[in-house]
Amino acid sequence: MKDIFPGPGKISIQSLDFIYPATLLTETHDVEIYDANILDSSYEQILEFVERYSPDVTILTTAPNYLFWRCCPLGISTPKELSLLIKKESDTKLILIGPHPTVSPEWVINECQADFLIRGEPEISLYEFIKSNLEDTNIKGVYGNGVTTNGIAVVDNLEDLPVCDYSLIKQYKYHAYLAKNYKTGAIIEFSRGCKFNCIFCFNQLFRNKYRARPVCKVIEEIKLLKEKYGYQYFYFIDELFNHDTPQFRLLLKELKDLNIQIGCQCRPDIMNEDLLKEMKNAGCLIIEYGIESFAKEILYGLHKNINVKKSKFIIEKTSEIGIITRGFILYGLPDENIKSLETTRRMVWALNSKIFIGSNIVIPYPTTQLFKQVYGSKTEIGKSEWNYCSKNIGKLSHTHKFVIMLYRYIIHVQNRAKLLYKKYK
Ligand code: SF4
Repeated sequence: MKDIFPGPGKISIQSLDFIYPATLLTETHDVEIYDANILDSSYEQILEFVERYSPDVTILTTAPNYLFWRCCPLGISTPKELSLLIKKESDTKLILIGPHPTVSPEWVINECQADFLIRGEPEISLYEFIKSNLEDTNIKGVYGNGVTTNGIAVVDNLEDLPVCDYSLIKQYKYHAYLAKNYKTGAIIEFSRGCKFNCIFCFNQLFRNKYRARPVCKVIEEIKLLKEKYGYQYFYFIDELFNHDTPQFRLLLKELKDLNIQIGCQCRPDIMNEDLLKEMKNAGCLIIEYGIESFAKEILYGLHKNINVKKSKFIIEKTSEIGIITRGFILYGLPDENIKSLETTRRMVWALNSKIFIGSNIVIPYPTTQLFKQVYGSKTEIGKSEWNYCSKNIGKLSHTHKFVIMLYRYIIHVQNRAKLLYKKYK
């Protein structure tokens, strides 16, 4: 049986959601990963490939790539157009994965005319379902062809994920996410999920519970990528990289000997100086902190009770220790007002060029607590709920959208100005 996984998207990073199941399937199947994103393929080129390869099964994702499962587009126009074309032009069985099939299976399967969906974390279920020649419809997460009650797949034990077979994507050169000094880089996964519960986090149905992979598998992948494919920079896709467990400390210890550089996402409140030093020694080049706001009442409302003083301290220490420090601010948050925006602006200014600030306007994704706050509890999430999210971006704040945009601009400009000043001083 032949299977293909075309992967559309904007940022060129490895699609681990495809590589894991494809690796497992290579034992019994002829598998090809076609990265339509990195090739910048047109629909015609994708169809040409499907025609040439003539797969029995084709798998598409509705997220632009693996990084975007939790901040995906609010529509499915691209996967829908591609799905309909593939169904029209070939006899392949079409399976869709991604956040949209997970949250809104009925809407997605009807719009995209897919044969099946895999809801939730797809890797193991997808492998088992294809291995069963699409016959075992009792597999967790499988949806379609009259099967609607199998629930959502979760990879409970990350030990079940294989060491990725990177020969499946050896023809592609991927970007070094955030690291400008490297031409290429690899995405890697040590852990999945998070023990916190921020109300805006789109993690209720997948990547929710914290789990970690065996350190030996992660190290094996890094060595393979470095020695065989020349990668020197690795970005850990984990939601909560600095969750301080013995397994995490072991990972840092093992990374030390590899002479590579890494980037990652962390929470400032569970960071400490000792851990920062360990991370630096392990080759940490970049840390991204989810800050959201420096106003304590806003953080409280987000269920992200981060101590602002501690955040500031950790940001300063991270920068002092020589790790590039990035922070994310969200705007349009519930109860946000001029005072809270001003508090955040002042703190960014006070951090005095120690941090690169990225920002976005919060999206009330379906199934999040934020969505429930503004929309009420809904059991069925379909097209109108996704539309509702896109119409309500930034409308939760007590300030006008213009004020939000103005603050976003001011904070961005003052941060850039300080950084430039520091650079040319
Ligand atoms: S800390 Fe990050 S990953 Fe965890 S719940 Fe909050 S936003 Fe989500």
